[in-house]
Amino acid sequence: MAPPALLVLVAVAVITAAATMARQASAARAAFAVASNATAGAGGKLNVHLVPHSHDDVGWLKTVDQYYVGSNNSIQRACVMNTLDSVVDALARNPDRKFVVVEQAFFQRWWAEQLPNIQAIVRKLVASGQIEFVNGGWCMHDEAAVHYIDMIDQTTLGHRMIKKQFNKTPSAGWQIDPFGHSAVQAYLLGAELGFNSLHFARIDYQDRERRKADKGLEVIWRGSRTFGSSAQIFTNIFPVNYSPPDGFGFEVLDEDIVPVQDDLQQFDNNIKERVNDFVAAAIAQANVTRTNHIMWTMGDDFSYQYAESWFRNMDKLIYHVNKDDRVHALYSTPSIYTDAKHISNESWPVKYDDYFPYADAKNAYWTGYYSSRPTFKRYVRVQSGYYLAARQIEFLLGRSSLGLFTTSLEDPMGIAQHHDAVSGTAKQHTTDDYSKRLALGASKVEKGVNIALTCLINSNRTCMSSVVKFSQCPLLNISYCPSTEETILAAKNLVVVAYNPLGWDRSEFIRVPVNDENLIVKSSDGTIIDSQLVEVDSVSRNLAKFYVKAYLGIIADKPPRYWLVFQASVPPMGWNSYYISRSIGTGHNSTVYVATMVSPSNDMVEVGPGPLKMSFSLAFGQLKRIFNSVSGVDLPIEQNFFWYRSNEGDTVDSQASGAYIFRPNVTTPTIASSPVPLKVIRGPLINEVHQQFNSWIYQVTRLYKNKEHAEVEYTIGPIPIDDDIGKEVITRLTKTWPQTARNHREDWGLNVTEPVAGNYYPVNLGVYVADEKYELSILVDRAVGASSIQDGELEIMLHRRILRDDNKGVDEPLGEVVCLDGSCKGLTARGTYYVKVDKLGHGAHWRRTYGQQVYSPYLLAFTHEYETSWKSYNVAKASMMDANYSLPDNVAIVTLQNLDDGTTLLRLAHLFQAAEDPRYSVITKVELRKAFGKRSIKELTETNLSANQKKSEMKKVDWRVTGNTENGPIPLKGGPVDSESLVVELGPMEIRTFLLKF
Ligand SMILES: [Zn+2]
Repeated sequence: MAPPALLVLVAVAVITAAATMARQASAARAAFAVASNATAGAGGKLNVHLVPHSHDDVGWLKTVDQYYVGSNNSIQRACVMNTLDSVVDALARNPDRKFVVVEQAFFQRWWAEQLPNIQAIVRKLVASGQIEFVNGGWCMHDEAAVHYIDMIDQTTLGHRMIKKQFNKTPSAGWQIDPFGHSAVQAYLLGAELGFNSLHFARIDYQDRERRKADKGLEVIWRGSRTFGSSAQIFTNIFPVNYSPPDGFGFEVLDEDIVPVQDDLQQFDNNIKERVNDFVAAAIAQANVTRTNHIMWTMGDDFSYQYAESWFRNMDKLIYHVNKDDRVHALYSTPSIYTDAKHISNESWPVKYDDYFPYADAKNAYWTGYYSSRPTFKRYVRVQSGYYLAARQIEFLLGRSSLGLFTTSLEDPMGIAQHHDAVSGTAKQHTTDDYSKRLALGASKVEKGVNIALTCLINSNRTCMSSVVKFSQCPLLNISYCPSTEETILAAKNLVVVAYNPLGWDRSEFIRVPVNDENLIVKSSDGTIIDSQLVEVDSVSRNLAKFYVKAYLGIIADKPPRYWLVFQASVPPMGWNSYYISRSIGTGHNSTVYVATMVSPSNDMVEVGPGPLKMSFSLAFGQLKRIFNSVSGVDLPIEQNFFWYRSNEGDTVDSQASGAYIFRPNVTTPTIASSPVPLKVIRGPLINEVHQQFNSWIYQVTRLYKNKEHAEVEYTIGPIPIDDDIGKEVITRLTKTWPQTARNHREDWGLNVTEPVAGNYYPVNLGVYVADEKYELSILVDRAVGASSIQDGELEIMLHRRILRDDNKGVDEPLGEVVCLDGSCKGLTARGTYYVKVDKLGHGAHWRRTYGQQVYSPYLLAFTHEYETSWKSYNVAKASMMDANYSLPDNVAIVTLQNLDDGTTLLRLAHLFQAAEDPRYSVITKVELRKAFGKRSIKELTETNLSANQKKSEMKKVDWRVTGNTENGPIPLKGGPVDSESLVVELGPMEIRTFLLKF
C-alpha cells in the first residue's frame, strides 16, 4: 500500500558515523538479547523490531513481467530488479542491515540472471541472516479462491529452490496482503510447513479495534479443530497495515519523505523531532501489544527501488533512538521477532476459525472477490486438476527422453495463485497475461501427455509417437472437440482413452460432441455398451461458435449436433479405452433423444432415469422437489436465479461494489424470471431439464442413470448493462431450513452494517446446510462466494458485471468483455454445480469423495485408429496399482510428481475431518507396495508439507495461552512408516508427504 529515511558535511564524518553506528548496532544485538531475556518480568525496555521488506505483487496493475523489468511505469512506478539489485548493494554495506525476501517468482528469476560474484555475495547475506526468506512460495497466495493443493504446490516450488540454492528452510509465514485469512493457512500452510509464525495485516476493522483494546492482535491460532494445539502457530496481526508508522517511510522520490537530518553543521536538522516521533509511535503501538517487543514493517508495495534511501535513514534512526535510550530499535526479521515473543513467556489468546469475511469499513466487505472473474477462477481450477493428472502420467511413464514436461505449468500455476490473480482483482490486461501463461504452459504439457500416453499404453512400452496421434479437448465445456466431431471413417474407430487420476475405481459419464447419429460404443473388452445421443441445444451451439472464433480464431463451420453419452469405468490411477464406430446395420446404435416441450396436461413433471428424481412445476417451470429413492429423502426444494444491483456509492457512503467489494444496493435481489419455459430430454442414461430463465441465463440439469446427485450446468451472460445497472448474479436453493448462524462472528459481537455482503463466505469445494433431519449439499467447480441470507436459503454468486470501480486499488470496473471482429460483448460464464440431499450426517461421504472427482475429472485423449491393429499393440486398460487394490475412500493422492533430483514426491491426504463421518473419520491405511504395483520403492523419507526438511527434524515450539488452555481431543495421527512393510497410516485430515526413490 504506502511506504515510509543525514547528509554529512565531510567524508571523514561519514566514516566516523558509519563506524559508530556499526559498533552501536553490535551493542544493540547484545542489548536485544538482554532485553528479550528480561521481558518475563516488567520493566524491560521496549524493543522496536524494524523489518525491512518490499511487497511485490506477482502481477496486479501491471503484468508480472512488467513489474520485474520496470516497464509500463505510467500505471505504476515499480521495478523488482531495481529492488533486488539495490537491496543486495545496501545489505553488503552494513552487516547489521536485514531484509526479508518473499516472492520466489521474482527472486528466482533475478537469481538466475546474476553473475557468480553477485550470487556469492547473496549466499553470504543469506547465510549470515541478513537476508531471510519468508513465506518462500512462488507468490503470496490468496486464501479464499485457491485450492489447497495449489497452495501446497506453489509453496513447495519456492521452498525446494531455496533449499537447493541456500540450504535454508523458511520459518515464517508472511501473508501480509491477502484479503482475509483462512484457518487452512494457519494449520496446513503454516504449522505443517514447519513455520513458527504467521504475519499479516488484513482483518475485519471491528475485530481489529477489539483486539487492539484487549492487546489481542497476536494470537496462537489453532486453525484445525481436528489437530488443535498440535498444529498451532503464533500469529502476528499488524495494528494498521504493512507500511511503517506514518512518517517513517523512506522510498526514494516519495513526495512525503522526511529524511533523518542529523548533521548539526547544516540546516533543517530534525533529529530531535524524528527521535521523539519514533518513540511516540513505538509507545502507541506498545499500548496495543503484549510484551515489550513490537514489529514495524519497514516497506510497502514495490519499495526499496533505491534501497540505500531506506537503510541510510534506518541506520540513523537506530543509532539516535538507541542513544536517546527510551526505547530500543533494531534491524529484525519475523523469525527474530517470533523468538523474542517466545522467550518472553507471555500468554496469548487462542484463535480457532477463519478471518473471513474481511471488511475495512462499514460498507466495504471484501466478499465480492470470492466470485470475481468466474471464468478465470474456473480456468485456474481446471489447470490445477490437469496438472495433477499430467504429473501422474509423467511419473507412470518413468524417467524418459521426454524429460519433466509438466514443469511448463509450475511457474504459470504458481503465479496464478497470487492474491491478485485467482482472486479476480488484477487489471484486465494482467488477467489476460495470467491466462496466456496458463494456456502456453498447458499446451506444452498437453503435447507431453499425448506422447507419454502413447508410450505408456504401448504393449512394448516403446514410444511410437509416429503411430498414435492423440489429441485432447480443452474446450469440451463449450462442446468443441475437433477429433470427436470429425467423421469416423468406415474401418476406423474413434478411440477414447480415459485416465483416472484418483486412487479408486470410478465409473463416470463421458460426454463428447459428435455429428453422426449412427454410432456404437464398445468397451475395451469389445462388448457394446449403452450410449445415448442428446441434441446439442442452441445456446451451446452459439456459445461454441462465438468463443471458438474469439479464442482460437477458428470458424467452427459446423457446430456439433449431438452429445454422445456413455459410462466409462476406469481403474485407480489407470486408464481404459473405449471404441466408437459407425454402426453398420441396426440393433446396437445409440439412440437419439431430442428435447421435448413437456406436456401441459400435468401439474408436475418428474425426471430422472436413476435413483434421483426431480420434480418441476409446469406452471412455473421450476424445481419443486428432490427425491432420492435409495436414501428415501424427499425434500421440497426450489431453485431460481436472482441478481443484486451493484451499489455505485450513495449519500450514506461513496463505497461502490467492485472487483473486491460486494455492496448490493438493496438487500433483496431481483428475480431473474418467473415462469420459466421448460424442456425435458429423456433417455436411458441421462435425463436433461433445460430452463431458459431469461435471455441471458440458461440452465441444464442432468440426472444420470445410477447417480444420486444432480449436475446443474448454468450459462450466464452476457449480463446486460444497457440499463446502466451493474448486476451480481446468484443462484438460490430454498427449503424451509431452521435458523442458520448469521450476523455472527466467533470472536466478537458483530455490528451489522451490510446484512448481505457481511454474510458472504468463500466456498472452494462445496457448502451444505442441515436441519434436524436432512442435509442439502452443493459442490462447486471453482471458487465462489456463498451465503444463507434467509432461513431455508442457500445462495451462490456465479457471475458479476459491474460498472464502477470500488476504489480499493485495481482502478477498473469489473466489466469483463470478449471481443470478436471489432465488437465486444459481456463475458458469458458457464459452470456446473452438483446437488445432493441426504439424511442428517450422511452427506460427508459424497461431499468428500465426489468432491475429489469434480476436482480430478478423467483426462481424456482421442485418436482415430483401426481397431484390430490398435488392440494388437496397445494395452487397452491398466492400473498403476495391484489388481484388486485401491485406496480407501477416505484417502486421495494429492501429489505424485517426479522431481529434478531423481526423487518422487508423494502426498497422501485423509479427506475427512475428525467426527465428520463415523465410518470414514478414522485412521486409515495405504499399502504403498500394492499402490505402486510393479514399481518397487527403494527408499522412503517422510518430510514436512513442502518437502524441504525431514519430518523428524521439524521443530515445534510450545506457546502459553490464556483462558481455556484445553488442547481438545488428542488428534489421531498415523505412526512412522516401516521401511519394510511400507504401510502409511493417516488420521482424519492428515496429509503426509514423502520423498521416494524407486
Ligand atoms: Zn498485494
